[in-house]
Amino acid sequence: MTSAEQARSTILERVRPVADESVPLAQAYHRVIAKDIVSDIDIPPFNSASMDGFAVRSEDTRSASPGLPSALALTEEIAAGDHADMRLNPGSTARIMTGAPIPEGADAVVEQELTVTKNGTVEVQAPVSSGRNFRKRGEDIRAGSTVIQRGALIRPAHLGVLASLGVKSVAVHRRPQVAFLTTGNELVEVTDGIEGGKIRNSNAYALLGLIREAGAEPFDKGIARDTKDDLRRKLAESSAFDAMITSGGVSVGKYDLVLEMLRELGVEIVFWKVNIKPGMPFAFAVWCRESREIPVFCLPGNPVSTMVTFLQFVRPALKKMMGVRGPEKPVPLRAVLEHPITKSDGKRHWSRGFVRSDNGVLKVRTTRSQSSGVLTSLVEANCLVTIPEDARELREGDEVEVELLYL
Ligand code: AMP
Ligand code: MG
Repeated sequence: MTSAEQARSTILERVRPVADESVPLAQAYHRVIAKDIVSDIDIPPFNSASMDGFAVRSEDTRSASPGLPSALALTEEIAAGDHADMRLNPGSTARIMTGAPIPEGADAVVEQELTVTKNGTVEVQAPVSSGRNFRKRGEDIRAGSTVIQRGALIRPAHLGVLASLGVKSVAVHRRPQVAFLTTGNELVEVTDGIEGGKIRNSNAYALLGLIREAGAEPFDKGIARDTKDDLRRKLAESSAFDAMITSGGVSVGKYDLVLEMLRELGVEIVFWKVNIKPGMPFAFAVWCRESREIPVFCLPGNPVSTMVTFLQFVRPALKKMMGVRGPEKPVPLRAVLEHPITKSDGKRHWSRGFVRSDNGVLKVRTTRSQSSGVLTSLVEANCLVTIPEDARELREGDEVEVELLYL
């Protein structure tokens, strides 16, 4: 059986980033930068004051003390937005506001609170060190430097930096368009009643959220019944997208026909069954159509298996397709188990957990029943707990790896 690690690396080898597009800056939030951003200006663009006070030449204040303050001639007032074309002569000072350009000759700003102003002179009662309250031109960004590398996810700080650079539109990766298909004779729509052995199609909604959360664009292709004809038709309809997801129908039951139909349609089944719990029947396939390779992720239908295999295998693939650089999985944390866990199946388990900080120590407990049908275990969870393949008896207090689900 394929191991969890092999499954992930095989998938990542087979998927490629999608093309770029240009979007206005205001729509770039949470998109992925497709080209390095190189600045053509210094930021800040001029030396400026970081406090309201008085611009001084620090050498003029070298001998200042409360008993013998330096008295400087007040010559000017400079507000934020003023043009800085003046020069500060020795022995003089200018009143300056936060963000205003510092005049030539001045090398520091003394806070207003540390001065006394008397008929046209400003008394400074202590030496002011050079560079005090002085924002230096280019201290944030130097012209010519790479400010944001391609592959970065655009967050609020990135938006702010791009705006200060005057970037009006940004080259980003297209959002991968992901078709998803749910399968099962037992499934009814959320608006329907559940008499007679039916259940509502919850996976369609969970997948909608998962795909969106990953940064891709979901397309619900509806429910396929467990018949060859319906599956064949709906699978074919779903193949005009960047990626495809199916839910259900990949175990060994009589009506688990998804893989059979994919094979019949000429789709390459790259692997089937992974040594994990939940989600063992997960399959990965690649559909070659018109020289395009469309990844097909076949998720087991149990609601928790669907979500966990999505998070572990589909999400990293979508991130790569979106052009994200850097770790394709959340950075794992170490946490201390609050209760024992035993298992003997030799599988990698991803249990649903709740991690909290107890006086600075991360502690984790699993949530509710770990059965793969109990979706409320994920409602309560804020992390997945990784229980290694070879672990058999974990005691309370043992360390385990957890992956946060949300930040
Ligand atoms: P399957 O993988 O098709 O054998 O389904 C495994 C279990 O998951 C069965 O109990 C199904 O009824 C359930 N299931 C399958 N698909 C869905 C779905 N879309 N929404 C909710 N439950 C599902
Ligand atoms: Mg089924």
